[in-house]
Amino acid sequence: MACAAAGRPREDVTLIVVTKTYPASDVRLLAELGVRHVAENRDQDAAPKAAECADLPLTWHFVGQLQTNKVRSVASYADFVHSVDRARLVTALSAAAVKAGRTLDCLIQVALDAESGEPGQRGERGGVAPDGVTELADALAAAEGVRPAGLMTVAPLVGTYAGRPRAAFERLMEISTGLRAAHPAANMVSAGMSADLDDAVAAGATHVRVGSAVLGVRPRLG
Ligand SMILES: *Cc1c(COP(=O)(O)O)cnc(C)c1O
Repeated sequence: MACAAAGRPREDVTLIVVTKTYPASDVRLLAELGVRHVAENRDQDAAPKAAECADLPLTWHFVGQLQTNKVRSVASYADFVHSVDRARLVTALSAAAVKAGRTLDCLIQVALDAESGEPGQRGERGGVAPDGVTELADALAAAEGVRPAGLMTVAPLVGTYAGRPRAAFERLMEISTGLRAAHPAANMVSAGMSADLDDAVAAGATHVRVGSAVLGVRPRLG
């Protein structure tokens, strides 16, 4: 529907179902229904789920804030990591991927609110400021076991783009154009969640990360 509204062919946009808080049995059902891309945001939950679902033809995306002490685990099951936002993480992911004999597709998470407001206001959503993207992409391209695959963002809650997801995603597309000039294969644009996926698809996202709109509203954690 979002594709039709934006005049884009359906196959232009990959649906990633965010299965956080849902059990492995639901992931299995989704796979039976034809879902091929799933995402998780916490390694503690994702690692056992991915292990239980290892027989399924699924591509696993890690979309949460990533601490370096979780990198080794994440590198064992994730195919895509959407939350690369610092050089230290590039080094750690590279070492873990080499050790695991895998290649990780890495997206740089962009904080579109990084220039505005107090850092504390941004919460724990992570991301690098737009002017830090090139350096991280170059680092990913130079490191073994990882490669720059594109950009990811979460629509900002504060700053210039607060309440303006369409404008935020259009800005991300501009940054993507710049990135692709130097790294043509880094063409993924991961943007849009249940609430703003129409805006993301209209702006040009290649991947949307949808949880509640597919699986229902999650019970609140803790
Ligand atoms: C939970 C989550 C989503 C999905 O959010 P919904 O509102 O349930 O669609 C997408 N991206 C990230 C990074 C998330 O943590």
